[in-house]
Order: sequence, then structure tokens, then C-alpha cells
Amino acid sequence: MIYLFCGILSSAVLGAICIPLFKKEDTLESAIIEETQWDLLQRKKEVILGNIQDLDFEHKCGKLSDEDHQRIRNEMSAEAAVVLQEIETIESAKDLDALIRREVSARKTKSKPASSTTSCSSCGASNPPSNKFCAECGAKIKR
Ligand SMILES: [Zn+2]
Repeated sequence: MIYLFCGILSSAVLGAICIPLFKKEDTLESAIIEETQWDLLQRKKEVILGNIQDLDFEHKCGKLSDEDHQRIRNEMSAEAAVVLQEIETIESAKDLDALIRREVSARKTKSKPASSTTSCSSCGASNPPSNKFCAECGAKIKR
């Protein structure tokens, strides 16, 4: 009975590990953040956190003594702390770079429609080139 319970729990734990992994890939702006060292560290983090979860789980199921659980958990936590620290360092350095690139691409898309508008000869309002009449005053736009 206890094995069945463990089996159900472990599949729940597995699901909990896998779901955020997939979500992260969807929302991650992979075009902006280059995944090299950062990606590697993320995977490392997931593995360590997964191991900690497994450890807690085995302890809960009575496979590990309190002492063993505490000792291994401390080791794993220290390892996780190092990885998290490294991720933070990379992210803080990359954020600035990504921000600049985002700003540059935002500027590019903004300047495009501005240069292709037609200004009304009556009131000077800018209209999209497809407009035959001014959206502001209704005058015919000459080309
Ligand atoms: Zn006008």
C-alpha cells in the first residue's frame, strides 16, 4: 500500500517538475536571451531541485533516516545556492544587454509607419497612405 502511495506521489512530483519546464520554454524570449551558460545552469538547477524533491519524498516514505536526509539535503541546498547565484549573475548582466536590444528594435518599428504616412494638405494631420480622405478634416488627400 505504501508503495502505491509513493508511486502516485512520485508521478505527481514528476508532473510538477515537467510542467514549469515546458512553460518556461514558451515564455522565454529566446531571441533576446542567448541560451548558453544560462541555459546550462537552468537545467542544472532543475536537476538539483528535482533531487531535493526526490530526497524529501524518499524521507517521507521512510526510505531515508532523518540524519541521512538532513545531511544530503544540506549538501544539495549548498549546490543549489551556488547555481542560483551564478544564474543571478548572468541574468543581471544580460538584462542590460537585452534591454538595449529591445529598445533598438522598438525604435525601428516605430520609425517605419511614421515615414510612410501622408500629411493632409488642408490641416496637416498625418494619415495612413491608404486613406483617400483626411481622417481629421475630411478633405481629399492629394498625392
Ligand atoms: Zn485634414
